[in-house]
Amino acid sequence: MRRCPYLEQLYKERRGPIRVYHFDCHVDHRSKRRIALRESPPICVRCFEDCHLYREERQREDGIIQRYTD
Ligand code: SF4
Repeated sequence: MRRCPYLEQLYKERRGPIRVYHFDCHVDHRSKRRIALRESPPICVRCFEDCHLYREERQREDGIIQRYTD
């Protein structure tokens, strides 16, 4: 499974027919929840390149690396 490098933890809880995904993001330091009626994991383990937090952090890190290599 591909996962975002900034994903700190992810676990799924079942509550009857409902799935609750708990995930922590290293970028904004927030614990988040995603509730779904079927298998629907968060963006962090799907197309994380589309996440604006991922893109912003990646740009910031690339900028730091660029400054060190110039
Ligand atoms: S995909 Fe976005 S929300 Fe998920 S861990 Fe990465 S930066 Fe955070």
